[in-house]
Amino acid sequence: MLVLKFGGTSVGSAQNIKKVAQIVQSQNEPLVVVLSAVSGTTNTLTEIHNSLVTGKNDEARDLTDVLELSYHTLLDELYTSEYYQLKALTFIRKSFEKLRKLTANDEHEILAQGELISTHLFQFYLAELQIDAALLSAFSFMSIDAQGEPETDQIKTKLSKSVLEISQDIIITQGFICLNHEDRIDNLKRGGSDYSASLIGAALNAKEIQIWTDIDGMHNNDPRYVENTFSINEISFDEAAELAYFGAKILHPQSVIPAKENNIPVLLKNTFAPKSKGTIIKNCDASDGIRAIAAKDGIIAMKIKSYRMLLAYGFLKKIFEVFEKYQTPIDMITTSEVAVSLTIDTPTHIDQIIKELQAFGKIEVDNNMSIVCLAGDFSQNSKGISSSVLNCLKEIPIRMISYGGSDFNMSLLIDTNNKAEALNLLNKGLFKKSISKETTLIEQFS
Ligand code: ASP
Ligand code: MG
Repeated sequence: MLVLKFGGTSVGSAQNIKKVAQIVQSQNEPLVVVLSAVSGTTNTLTEIHNSLVTGKNDEARDLTDVLELSYHTLLDELYTSEYYQLKALTFIRKSFEKLRKLTANDEHEILAQGELISTHLFQFYLAELQIDAALLSAFSFMSIDAQGEPETDQIKTKLSKSVLEISQDIIITQGFICLNHEDRIDNLKRGGSDYSASLIGAALNAKEIQIWTDIDGMHNNDPRYVENTFSINEISFDEAAELAYFGAKILHPQSVIPAKENNIPVLLKNTFAPKSKGTIIKNCDASDGIRAIAAKDGIIAMKIKSYRMLLAYGFLKKIFEVFEKYQTPIDMITTSEVAVSLTIDTPTHIDQIIKELQAFGKIEVDNNMSIVCLAGDFSQNSKGISSSVLNCLKEIPIRMISYGGSDFNMSLLIDTNNKAEALNLLNKGLFKKSISKETTLIEQFS
């Protein structure tokens, strides 16, 4: 059993849906196909809900009309037979009739329409191609408890039973949507379809979970700032989580936890270049050396300097309590005997935080900073790895270094104005060999 999840862009147009159908057809295993909403739909549904909340019913109606029209165009381009055109049109009409009846109190039901529509349209399309696929409602198995956490045992029981009862080799279901502890429609938060796929893969003990997006997997560095980046063939869950947290937007770290815990590899693939190898995330050893680099902007650094507190126990606790009080997470932290430096990425309560911290010492704040995160083998046994990193950055002022927090990561804090240069210097200094190896791979697959 394989789980294939396709994101919003992959089902974003008739042409793209046809590509998804080809990918689905080319598999030789039983499949669960998890779909996101057509790209833009969930955003529009959110806008519709916001309009209803603020009493702008005309605006909600107009947005709904425009959204419905966009589906008419999609249907025209997707189906060739009159039979399926009509079937899909009737379905869209009914869905929008239902949507128009929903109110400001039905936020989650409004948001659920995107995935309900994309999965139905895809099933009709496969049927037109004479591929018999079952449509299994996510509401029949995907559930969350009162804390919003997935009920993994129940999901497993319900889903395994349904899969046994279904005779088709292809099962289509919705990402993102679920029922909550009151049996009401809910969701796994924005971008939650990857999480759905991971939960489904874990529940069915799938051979592999494939996440199909519009890029060639994870890159070794940020392609927006660095030329000659390449997609990584293989990465461990731990390394991927470090990168995802510090800016590699491709996958939310939480979404792969069920896969990691059940030892199910996650393959990142590109719907628009299905022959490219993509990136496999699995429980493997960290890279021999450095696997990849990512950067996160919008970081604020704070230094709390206090001679009075020298060697005092409880000093850090008091500092952390201030951040806890203002619900502001700390990303990076470094300490010396007389000072502590730490970073945050949310400035919302910064003034209150600074005011309270002043009771402990002198506070210095640096804005416009970036965390550069390197993932790879940073364990005690890896000799020379940190010196090779620092060697690349001889000309770049470094504000903080975090090393030894985990075996898989080293993070540096620098001024955002120096970020592009730093990423390029690191790329040149650390990936020379890999680039030539990967060039051959790219040629091989193009
Ligand atoms: N359609 C939902 C969203 O846009 C879920 C997802 O695509 O993952 O957030
Ligand atoms: Mg997505």
